Formats: sequence, structure tokens, C-alpha cells
Amino acid sequence: MLKEENFELRAETASAQGLGWISTPFNDVAPPLYTSTTYERAADGTFPGGRIYSRDQNPTFDQVEALLARLEGGRAAMVFASGMAAAAAVFQSLAPGDRVLAPKSMYWALRGWLTGFAASWGLKVELYENASLDDLAGRARAAPTRLIWVETPANPTWEITDIAMAAEIARSVGAVLAVDSTVAATIFTRPLELGADVVMHSATKYLNGHSDVVAGALVTKEDNELWQRMHVIRAGGGAVLGPFEAWLLLRGMRTLHVRVAAAAKNAQMIAERISEHEKVLQVLYPGLPSHPGHAVAAKQMQGGFGGMLSIRVIGGESPARAFAGNLQVFKRATSLGSTESLAEHRASAEGPNTICPPDLVRLSIGIEHVDDLMADLEQALDRL
Ligand code: PLP
Repeated sequence: MLKEENFELRAETASAQGLGWISTPFNDVAPPLYTSTTYERAADGTFPGGRIYSRDQNPTFDQVEALLARLEGGRAAMVFASGMAAAAAVFQSLAPGDRVLAPKSMYWALRGWLTGFAASWGLKVELYENASLDDLAGRARAAPTRLIWVETPANPTWEITDIAMAAEIARSVGAVLAVDSTVAATIFTRPLELGADVVMHSATKYLNGHSDVVAGALVTKEDNELWQRMHVIRAGGGAVLGPFEAWLLLRGMRTLHVRVAAAAKNAQMIAERISEHEKVLQVLYPGLPSHPGHAVAAKQMQGGFGGMLSIRVIGGESPARAFAGNLQVFKRATSLGSTESLAEHRASAEGPNTICPPDLVRLSIGIEHVDDLMADLEQALDRL
């Protein structure tokens, strides 16, 4: 591939042009899709193409990984078969016996995997209060800590953790700081610049943005021993992205900035307006001054507060479920970060071990006309 980087591109330009890469020999503006699983060896035993086997060397990964590294300001990036595979690679790069601090409020399946599988595999996992730096610092200092995991804004109640302060705590105890930045989508927050060592994304969400690819990504500040261990885990564990998914992910990322900005603008307007509704107990959205994490969010999120918000409905679980059931424009589905708006009664989706309030409906705000979304929410609430 031809890589023409004559000057520093702004993030919007880098995304829209897929870093401006042009492929040889036809000077393709959109990249080719490389499907070969293997590469021919020369008579002397060398590999003139520089690749041996495509499990973790597929050339379709190159451009999207370079773009991810560029957007997060990292040294390198790796794509994975899912966000969970990316997160698992971070934890599996540690050694049995290592102590990990993770937030109480976080993507529930990852919390379940950590406290279940990872703990039985030998990691000592302890949960801290997302927004309490005192709690995090106290736990970090109480015993040797290898890794601190942050998710901010945290799914599904959108607590905010101060990444710069968490980085200071991690540094003071010699721990690695890893941030699940799925909801900040590379646009609003750049965790590596705030002191994190590794950033993780469920690329299934905003990065791809069209509900048609499951993918994950890691971006590292340094190409160090830990990063190389994650490489080995990807290649050896084999949780690799398919070439078509990698190609689609890059295609989705070309519109990342316009999609995410439109979703965040809609979300801010909806959060402000729907807070006034008589059937609404509380709107959880970091862009609202009433949100306990608003001040920290305003400091570490630039250009908006994201497209995710949750509504707590007066009266508990039954009206919350009825509200979700009344929606007509929003699609009742799990996941987030796509063009279409989604709604989910979160506690019932998470099941018996949930810590999510039963009156909460999670909304992933899309890029539709905001008046259509507002009208749908209002009619669904009015009918309760
Ligand atoms: N992190 C967050 C914040 C998520 O919302 C999700 C999925 O919903 C994941 C990680 C896991 O990603 P994936 O579904 O791509 O495995």
C-alpha cells in the first residue's frame, strides 16, 4: 500500500480518508479485501511478501489498526474478533496471582467474566466504586496491584471516572491502567493522553456504527513487553477478526465523526427535554449538570458527552418495561452506537445477577431526526 502522510491530518480527515492510504497496483482509494489465508514462500525459504499465515497477519487489518492508533494517539493497535476478546487479551496478558481492580459498574458480561472465569484462572479481582478516587486509591495501596481497569462513561448508568487521576494512582503503585473507552468512541476522550497505558474498544459499537460487525480493538501507548504478550494471546488464542469484518470496520470508521457528533447532539437535547416529563424519575446522562460526574466529564470529554443515556421511570420495573414496550421508532434491542436508536430494559437483559436499577431503560441514541425520537419517547411515556 502507498502511505502518503505528508502532513499531520486532523482526526476527522484521517477517518474520512482512512488515513489517506492508496493501494497498489491500481491506486485504489477504497482498500482491497485480502482473503488469502496463506502466502507463498520463495525457493530460498524466505517470505517475499513479509507474511506467513493470515491468522494474525491479514493485510486487511493494517489500515484500520493504523487508523485506530492514530485516533487514540497510540503507538500501535490490534483488532480482535470482539470487544470481549480484546478485553480478555488484556487480562490474560497478566499472570495468575496478579491483582486487578475493576469498577463495580461496568459492561456486565465483562464483570461476570472477570469475577467468574478470570478469578478461577488465578487473577485476584476486586471491584471499586467507579467515581470514588478515594476508594480506588485505598484499594490500590492496600496490596500489590498489577492492573486498574476503568470504564467511562460506564454502562449502563454512565458513571464517570477521572482518567488522569486514576492514572496517577496507577503510576504511584506501579500498576497498568487500561480504559474501556467504547462509549467515548475515540472522539470525546483520549485516555492515552490522560495517562492510560492501553485503550480498549468494543468496535461493534460506534467505531463500526452500523450494527453489522462484531469486533474489538486495543491501542497501546508503548510497544512494550505487555503489548507483545497481548499479540501472542491474539495469535495463539486465535480470536482474530475476519478480513471482511476488518474491511467493514474501516468503512464504518470513515463516517465516525459525523455519526458520533450527530448522536451526541441528539442525546444532549433528548436528555434535557425528557428530564421534564412527569413520568420520568431521573435521566442519567453525563451532559446534564445534575449528573454527579458532570464536572469530570466536562474536563475529560471534548465536543460532547456521547450518545448513551438511561431513563429511570417513576413506579419501578413494570412501568419501565411498559415504556420500552410502547416505543415505536426506537428499536427494542441490546447493543449501542449505531445509526438507529435502540432501547433496552437493562435489568431484564442482564439477568438475575444484575446491579442495574429495575426502573431503568437504556437508550442508545442514533442519528435520526431528534423530533421523531422525542415524539416516540413522549408518546411511550404518556401512555403509561
Ligand atoms: N465494553 C462495553 C462498554 C460494551 O458495551 C460491550 C458490549 O456491549 C463490550 C465491552 C463487549 O463488546 P463485544 O460485544 O464487541 O464483545
